[in-house]
Amino acid sequence: MKRRKFLKSLGGTVALTSLLATSHSSYAKKKTEYNWKMVTSWPKNFPGLGVGAENLAKLITNLSNNRITVKVFGANELVPPLEVFDFVSKGGAELGHSGAYYWKGKSQACQFFSSVPFGMNSQEMNAWLYYGDGIKLWEKLYNKFNLIPRPAGNTGVQMGGWFNRKVNKIDDLKGLKMRIPGLGGEVLSRAGGTPVTLAGSEIFTALQTGVIDATEWVGPYNDRAFGLHKAAKYYYYPGWHEPGPTIECMINKDKYNSLPTDLKLIIDVACKAVNLDMLSDYTSKNNLALQFLKSENINILRFPDEVLSTLKKISEEILKEISLTDSITKEVYNSYMKFKDNVTPWTDISDKSYLDIR
Ligand code: CA
Repeated sequence: MKRRKFLKSLGGTVALTSLLATSHSSYAKKKTEYNWKMVTSWPKNFPGLGVGAENLAKLITNLSNNRITVKVFGANELVPPLEVFDFVSKGGAELGHSGAYYWKGKSQACQFFSSVPFGMNSQEMNAWLYYGDGIKLWEKLYNKFNLIPRPAGNTGVQMGGWFNRKVNKIDDLKGLKMRIPGLGGEVLSRAGGTPVTLAGSEIFTALQTGVIDATEWVGPYNDRAFGLHKAAKYYYYPGWHEPGPTIECMINKDKYNSLPTDLKLIIDVACKAVNLDMLSDYTSKNNLALQFLKSENINILRFPDEVLSTLKKISEEILKEISLTDSITKEVYNSYMKFKDNVTPWTDISDKSYLDIR
């Protein structure tokens, strides 16, 4: 009877929040053996990303029954957002929560472990990471930096962005000043536009005052929170430049290796749980935010086919070029592209054809 009740509760409610609320009052609380810190590239408790970091920390603490306790530091609390990698590498913190494409200065290969333009979506990324060579190659790449990487979140397909000019043809991107970081920015630049890098907090004002003509950010959930619909006329889709970015947890390798096997496993499983939970959170909240934006009569437009096919051609050229920058990037590029080419026919006749008829 008790067992049936337990199974029923598992079937009924498995949201991460319920696991996090689990009280340990019935256990003898264990003594803390490891006091760990997690630095992140997001403001503390930022919707989606920051919440994911917080959930990961709580999950590791709860699952280990306090044998590891993890304290989260938001961007700039211990280190600036883009110094997370070096800080964890040197052992300043044991854990980091960030996005691998920020570390392209270490190797261009890093970008393939978050998202590349016209690349794989979240489901395909997870398949490559967990069941292809993804994590194996990622570990090889991070090994010399004394880090172990794990997927620990995903935003799903992002939006193309907010524009104050219509994009009817590829030439409309000429001279367009757009906040779009990374490879997406390089693609825009080759299409004649001017990519601008701005921190999230600066985007709204830059767009409202005309310092930039357009911006991408994430999707309806995060974009609405920034009020971007009050600063631009058109909201374009799809997010060709970020089709399902993986968020990472990096672990200092020496610290990870010093743990007993059960605690290593707890960290791995917690990362996997948060990888799923964040994507579910985004899917749920994007949907609600999109309904709100529609009720505000926002112009939600699809990029024309001609624009997308040109951006795709440029993206493929750029990916091929960066694959030649070092041997690990070549290896990662080959593995990623082969997996993408092989999985695409299956995605086409399964998810894509089903969604087309729903
Ligand atoms: Ca983005």
